[in-house]
Amino acid sequence: MIIKHSRGEYPIWFEPYSDFQAGLQGPFVVITDENVHSAHGHLLPSGIPTLILPPGEATKSIECYSRCLDWLGELPLTRNGTVVALGGGVIGDLVGFVAATYMRGVAFVQVPTTLLAQVDSSIGGKVGIDLPAGKNLAGAFHPPSAVCVSGEFLATLPPRQFVNGTAEVWKAAYIRDESLLTRLRAGALSLDSQDLQQCIISALMIKQQVVEQDEFETTGLRAQLNFGHTIGHAIEKALDYEGLLHGEAVSIGMVVEAQIGEALSITRPGTSEEIKADMIKQGLPITIPESISVDTLLHAMARDKKVTQSGLSFSFLTQIGTCKLCQGLNSVEISRILSDIA
Ligand code: ADP
Ligand code: ZN
Repeated sequence: MIIKHSRGEYPIWFEPYSDFQAGLQGPFVVITDENVHSAHGHLLPSGIPTLILPPGEATKSIECYSRCLDWLGELPLTRNGTVVALGGGVIGDLVGFVAATYMRGVAFVQVPTTLLAQVDSSIGGKVGIDLPAGKNLAGAFHPPSAVCVSGEFLATLPPRQFVNGTAEVWKAAYIRDESLLTRLRAGALSLDSQDLQQCIISALMIKQQVVEQDEFETTGLRAQLNFGHTIGHAIEKALDYEGLLHGEAVSIGMVVEAQIGEALSITRPGTSEEIKADMIKQGLPITIPESISVDTLLHAMARDKKVTQSGLSFSFLTQIGTCKLCQGLNSVEISRILSDIA
């Protein structure tokens, strides 16, 4: 698969990591985290400079960013070198931002090792880190020069992390791909699914179509990928990014946004019940944690960086398989609907 962007294009390879690594041109270095290194470090040839960072969202920080830059500077990595981001979304986002800024930009390749990163964050070119003031507040568009999506990594992923990633596969199906949905509904997605790779490819193809047509999020098309995310991000924020994983929050978000869409007569009635049944079958949560009040949720939404001056923005399904971006929604009305749902 090839992803095109304004400055060129990059391939996504579906092959074992060792084969991909053998084909890398020029000098390369690896940045990874402790968990990925313990499980897959043996795949790295000896002598390859490797920086191993602590796992977890806290690694997407200015401190780790600066540690990476210092490390590259001391090696030193020259302009023709490549940085390999071997890990989940945290490593991919951080290392991408490091590569975007080190020497005004060096090449990097994404080797996503979580399902979530394989189907979502590793393509599209968005990279960045968190600031004390909020998530992903410092970032850039810096497409990788290649992506390697290899099934071997998923085998060591904790089960909860695997299920977490399935939420974005379901999302892709809901917004654009009824045939993927049919496949997913034939049996929840698992490591043993015969067509796991095919489902990953289908989800990636949807992301590809969208990011190729709206690379810099200017036309509203890319924002359609945010189905489930207005509520999902607000839940994550209200919980201080602890307790629920991103895909879990998005799962709840998809159910609740379908309910809001139905209440606004945008989404076909019955859609939220269908999504609920799918998420339960997949082992994903469907209800907003009781500790989060409607007011807290609204407050979290109002501070989202995607909120326009004029109101809240949602990507609503019109029916399964199609969605549309709705902007400028009145927060009082959304609050009333959320209270009715609760
Ligand atoms: P995400 O891709 O969901 O954004 P992270 O980069 O935080 O998230 O990865 C989630 C967790 O899974 C982290 O603790 C990370 O170290 C661990 N992890 C990532 N890939 C693997 C893997 N292939 N095997 C085992 N653990 C992994
Ligand atoms: Zn997401």
